[in-house]
Amino acid sequence: MGSGFFRRINDALTARKESGLYRYPPTVERVDGHFMDSGGKRYLNFSSNDYLGLAGTPDVCRFWQEGVSRYGAGSTASPLVTGYSSPHADLERMLCDWLGFESAVLFNSGFAANQAVIFTLCDKEDLVIQDKLNHASLMEAGMLSPARMKRFRHNDTESLSAALSCTVTGNRLVVTEGVFSMDGDKSPLSEIATVARHHDAWLMVDDAHGIGVLGEDGSGSCRSAGIKPDILVVTFGKAFGLMGAAVLCQTETADYLRQFGRHYVYSTAMPPAQAYTIRRTAEIIQTQQWRREKLSELSAVWEEALSGIPGATHTNTPIKPVIVGQSEPMLRLSEYLRQKGYWVGAIRPPTVPANKARLRVTLSVSQPKVAVLALAGEIKNMLEGEQCLPS
Ligand SMILES: *Cc1c(COP(=O)(O)O)cnc(C)c1O
Repeated sequence: MGSGFFRRINDALTARKESGLYRYPPTVERVDGHFMDSGGKRYLNFSSNDYLGLAGTPDVCRFWQEGVSRYGAGSTASPLVTGYSSPHADLERMLCDWLGFESAVLFNSGFAANQAVIFTLCDKEDLVIQDKLNHASLMEAGMLSPARMKRFRHNDTESLSAALSCTVTGNRLVVTEGVFSMDGDKSPLSEIATVARHHDAWLMVDDAHGIGVLGEDGSGSCRSAGIKPDILVVTFGKAFGLMGAAVLCQTETADYLRQFGRHYVYSTAMPPAQAYTIRRTAEIIQTQQWRREKLSELSAVWEEALSGIPGATHTNTPIKPVIVGQSEPMLRLSEYLRQKGYWVGAIRPPTVPANKARLRVTLSVSQPKVAVLALAGEIKNMLEGEQCLPS
């Protein structure tokens, strides 16, 4: 009995391996935005989302220790039971003041926050309209929600406008990201907000890769674009170097999420020590403008070193994709870089569209300029050379 499951599992694994898409998590001994130690070897880490270099800093580690000694290790329950404590409330208040919203609701991950928002907000007569390149957590929520889902062409407001123009008996929710995680480009938020408002739609922005990185005080994509979406999702696993997420919105929407968001109601609250650490880390993010300046400097160094190289895309963020196309040569290139001591993200379908396999190089404040230049040099040689890619 149950052998059908075995067959399904084995077939799926075999197909995955044959298509060159099989993955397995590397065991990491220690990691931050600068180094990654794995298999007894040390690599320069160009694949983390630790853009501001905060994950390994003594200050942030000290916040965790302070938090644990003050509030204990865990939250003991979901927020509506006994899991919501003063560090959670302090963090929510700080996020509201910083980002300019009435209310904030904490979640354990960006994935959970995105699902909670879309599932609780959208009903079957509604229409969810998403940028084609939105993160899997958003796409999946849209597909599983009772609402109808449409996609618009990446960052294309005309395509968005067309998608919004159809007849809908319910409500419309436009969903986009501030900074796209696999392409590193920004969304034209001001235009998108105008189009959404014109069609009486709500706008939800997932700013996982913009928060901390963009804007004077790191307040992210929306403030820098001069817009305030109806729903803003920020996550703490990227520039914060931590984990967790928050949904920012107005009071009634927040209250609605607290009543009906199943990822909120039925999930243990993050440890109070974590909420405390996130709040203290946000202070660093807001005040240490030098981190964003250093990141811009590294970005300029990278862009200059790779200008004119086919596949190397220009971005205004620390995400620097190098599009190779097919998975095979891209994997060989990443393996070659690994042998040289660089750990670079090797991104394949289905994470990115077919024939758009890429190296996803990410810059971090922790990296010295010479290392950034050296990696750019290696990639340039590989892509320019007659021999092209190592076999
Ligand atoms: C990473 C990411 C998420 C998921 O956030 P986690 O806190 O890691 O679960 C959601 N949206 C985007 C755009 C992301 O890049």
